[in-house]
Amino acid sequence: MIKLKKILCPVDFSACSTHALSYATDLSIKNKASLYLIHVVETHVNDVRDMLKQIDLLLDDKQIDELRVQLTSLIPDNIQKSITIETIIVKGIPYVEIIKTARDKQMDLIVMGTHGRTGLEHILIGSVAQRVIQKAPCPVFSIRLPEQIFSMP
Ligand code: AMP
Repeated sequence: MIKLKKILCPVDFSACSTHALSYATDLSIKNKASLYLIHVVETHVNDVRDMLKQIDLLLDDKQIDELRVQLTSLIPDNIQKSITIETIIVKGIPYVEIIKTARDKQMDLIVMGTHGRTGLEHILIGSVAQRVIQKAPCPVFSIRLPEQIFSMP
């Protein structure tokens, strides 16, 4: 039987990622798995020539603590007491940091949204989700918002 001990949920605070978090939380409860919430503070932006440009971003301890609190507060208080939750705040390129964390911490499953903050609902799947699905060292459960489900012709 497959046993899930560690579940990683990448959260960018979009509606889709918080919807995915409810699945991750439920799976953690049912499997008695530890839930790891990761938020990546982006340090790379596309410049006008569509190249990746690194931006120097300073993140102090206070900001990191605030982000940890924001992440944890997405989970109802009564559930927080029943599972082990860890928050991970890192700077970098989201898909790189998500995959690196999954590998380093030997995650059993990643639960994430199909879409994020970019609001490109018309595309089938966002670029962070796409890259994580392609390169993750463990299975990826991708969750779509109910209003993003469209019928096939
Ligand atoms: P995207 O591919 O950008 O549309 O986002 C798809 C999903 O990737 C989101 O629903 C989140 O689960 C995750 N994600 C995107 N950006 C970040 C980020 N900066 N930190 C953590 N998770 C992220």
